[in-house]
Amino acid sequence: MSSKIDYINIEHYSRCLKLINDIFKKFLVIDDNNYEIELKKSLEKIGLFFSLDRIYVYYFSKDPTFMKIEYQWNKKDIKQKRERQEEEVVYTLPWLIREVKNSEFVAINDTNRFPDEALFEAEVFLNEGVKSFLIIPLKIADKLIGFMGYESLSDYINWQESQIEVLSDISKIFSYTRERLEKEKKYEETLNGQAILLNNSESQIWALSNVTSYATVNEAHVNFFGKKKSDLEYQDLYDVFDIETANKFSENNWELFEKNELTKKELEVENVNGEKRLLKIRSKPQKDKDGNIKYLICTAEDITEQRRAERELYKAKEQAETANIAKSQFLANMSHEIRTPMNGILGFLELLQLTNLSLEQEDFIREAKVASEVLLHIINDILDFSKIEARKLVMENIEFNLRKIIEDAVSLLAPKAAAKGIELYTMIKEGVPEVVVGDPARLSQVLNNLISNAVKFTEHGEIAVIVDCLEIEKKIALLSFQVKDTGIGIDREHINTIFQSFSQADASTTRKYGGTGLGLAISNELVKMMGGEISVESILGEGSTFKFDVRLRIVKGSTEQKFEFLKLDDVNILIVDENENNRRIINSYIQGIGLKVFEAQDASTAITTILTNANTKNRISVAIINYQMPDMNGYELANTIKTIPFTKDIKLILLTSVTQKGEVKALKEYGFSAYLGKPVRRDELLDCIAITLGIKKEDEEKNKIITKHIVKEVKNSLEPRILLVEDNEMNRKIIISMLKSHGMICDVAVNGSEALKVVTEKDYDVILMDCQMPVMDGYECTSKIRDFEGEKKHTIIIAMTANAMEGDYEKCIKAGMDNYISKPINFDTMFSLIEANTKENHKGIKYSNIIKNNIDYLIKETGLKEEDAKEILEEYIEQLPNLLSDISEAIYRSDFNKLVALTHELKGSSGTLRIVSIYELAIQLEEAVLKHEIDKSTILFEKIRDLLGEIRHEIK
Ligand code: ADP
Repeated sequence: MSSKIDYINIEHYSRCLKLINDIFKKFLVIDDNNYEIELKKSLEKIGLFFSLDRIYVYYFSKDPTFMKIEYQWNKKDIKQKRERQEEEVVYTLPWLIREVKNSEFVAINDTNRFPDEALFEAEVFLNEGVKSFLIIPLKIADKLIGFMGYESLSDYINWQESQIEVLSDISKIFSYTRERLEKEKKYEETLNGQAILLNNSESQIWALSNVTSYATVNEAHVNFFGKKKSDLEYQDLYDVFDIETANKFSENNWELFEKNELTKKELEVENVNGEKRLLKIRSKPQKDKDGNIKYLICTAEDITEQRRAERELYKAKEQAETANIAKSQFLANMSHEIRTPMNGILGFLELLQLTNLSLEQEDFIREAKVASEVLLHIINDILDFSKIEARKLVMENIEFNLRKIIEDAVSLLAPKAAAKGIELYTMIKEGVPEVVVGDPARLSQVLNNLISNAVKFTEHGEIAVIVDCLEIEKKIALLSFQVKDTGIGIDREHINTIFQSFSQADASTTRKYGGTGLGLAISNELVKMMGGEISVESILGEGSTFKFDVRLRIVKGSTEQKFEFLKLDDVNILIVDENENNRRIINSYIQGIGLKVFEAQDASTAITTILTNANTKNRISVAIINYQMPDMNGYELANTIKTIPFTKDIKLILLTSVTQKGEVKALKEYGFSAYLGKPVRRDELLDCIAITLGIKKEDEEKNKIITKHIVKEVKNSLEPRILLVEDNEMNRKIIISMLKSHGMICDVAVNGSEALKVVTEKDYDVILMDCQMPVMDGYECTSKIRDFEGEKKHTIIIAMTANAMEGDYEKCIKAGMDNYISKPINFDTMFSLIEANTKENHKGIKYSNIIKNNIDYLIKETGLKEEDAKEILEEYIEQLPNLLSDISEAIYRSDFNKLVALTHELKGSSGTLRIVSIYELAIQLEEAVLKHEIDKSTILFEKIRDLLGEIRHEIK
């Protein structure tokens, strides 16, 4: 039976409150160290107060199917509820656990009267001798974490509501305190962990609360200054450091605060040992909810050593690079230096070739020239290669005509290919832009290299140069170039190495074909610099195809048609050529302008085609005939066509790979209207057809090419007015002699300022201008000439440069020069430039005009027969150019001894021949020469030359 205790008793109630109060007060300040002891003490107090025998606390394990008794108090002489603290399965008490989960408490007054379903519980509790018990669930934030049990083994307790309430409250105090302690423990652990990290970090870490105030710091930071944490934490910089360091830090902090974002900065600070150390500081602001900086967290690494190592590494790299560049620069300079004497060797060899030589000597010179040219080629390759290595090669960016560059590159090698009997043709596909921006010289160089290799390594068959435009994006064209040959091919083993420097497919080729193995390596680099790639496909014994692509900016797209071919819908063209590719190319060019084209592979097919179409609308108007054909040659076919009455009006154009001047006459006799050299250039072909058909006039002034392919005698007696500006005596001598050998003379200036003076006084057709000169260089001189000329005139200025420095060409054009020849001078180029730029009124000058003007007077004076008089005059005329150029040279050298003899000769011959105007001037010239009056001599000599010029004008 239960003992009756009066809980309503006020005294008991107040004691009860005191108990709760005491426990509450104690547990409020309890910490982890005395929790267990105090808990036990409190349990005892409660047990005794409520006359209980046992109080215990169970906590559920992490796995909630287990639980463990953690604390227990047992009244004296009462056995422990559990001997050991070990995990028990919760389902041994299923009813009780369910109740604990769902109720505020479980109160059993008499263990003999368990509810029916508490079978297991009844057994367990009775076995343990428990008479009454109260279980209070322990919860934290509504989560059940365990329960407390209050048991009586000696008496039955009739659990009262107020008693249950008190015990519930006490249980709550226990569970809250436990939670608090656990949290505190965890927090301390975290703090400890953070402190471990912070204080053991190699990096310095500190937090600033404002520009000059520390919040907290780590060990690394204080150790750096040899201070203690407390020296720095919550201190002002100016109280901690000397003024200089404090200033430095606050200035730095100011910037970091200002940035208000993740920032990196380097700062040099003195450490405890007085060493200057470089700190790499990273700062991150920690902001409050209004976005204001609460703390600025800084971390710093000491990067002094790292920076020193970097500096040393950089120095070593610089040294290595400088050494490498110096080496390449040396090579570039050397190659440049070698080119100067090479210029002399080649020039004098060329001059030597013009003198009287035995056959054997001629042969030797030819060999010497070939060897010098090979040497020059090698030097050029080495120069380019070393420029690329020294990263000195800069691509030009200038406008140029793409078609011209391609066709020129092909034409350059056409004679070599023709000599080997190889067909060489160009196919520039539709859509390839006409004018682009890039480096024309470098593009030609790559093409030249590939085409000359193709010619070199091909014994028979053909070489095709095919250009296509693959895509155009934002005015940038991707152009593909192919050079296809039917030569020796390259084996698989070597194909991957040929683009490397000094690499040749196999050593035996060096012996047989020569070469340095640099060409493709250079091409490879150049193509890369032009934004493309080079590759090769090859079958040994069958041939090779080299391909490369480049990207170039378009200035003008593929050509719109210049002539109104479209109107001519009854014009039909026949191409007669054995070679199918040649027919195909010409066909595509002509079809491109909308004319109808027929093809014939030999003369007999051609005749059949002409005859069958004779009376239809497909009547052939123009036949383009290749010279070499299997059945009949071009001349024979022309003859046949011209003898048939109704085909004789067909216009004939001859295709020939060897165009000799003498042959031009023969062409006309065979009935050809024009000829075209192979490989055929599209614009030349179209111009030629247009002129042949009479749609276009031959416009010599504007379009000089046309004179080349219209059948008429070639004019070869030019008298251009040339000014040579050159400081190097050897070069001067070569150029003057070369001009002389072509019947041309020139004035000379030895530097820019001399040239400028001369130009202001006299007109020239062409100025050959050296670039590097003392006093005034060629660039400055040119721009001054251009300033002087203004809009009124434009003298053609051709630069002569060693082409060894970057940007030479661009510099020349910028200075106002019109063209450019590189040294050593290729004289063919020089003469073709002079020819192209000599004005019309100077063309076709024939001293024979002198005959016309003077023959009558001579006959009258001497009584000579007309034939004899003409012969003498002709002889005089033949010698005149040489005589004049000798005088010019002697004046230039102030060589009076020579001048006396020369002017005497001029006076004598013109007197004998009664060419009065010249004779009179020659007398005065002789006088001046005898008196060594150089200025007067110059003026008189100019007058003689002008006189000859005037004669020419009158006659015209
Ligand atoms: P090289 O001055 O020796 O011609 P290149 O770099 O131009 O130097 O060429 C390297 C090598 O590639 C050549 O020696 C040759 O073996 C091979 N080669 C180049 N072009 C061709 C080609 N069209 N046909 C066969 N082999 C070629």
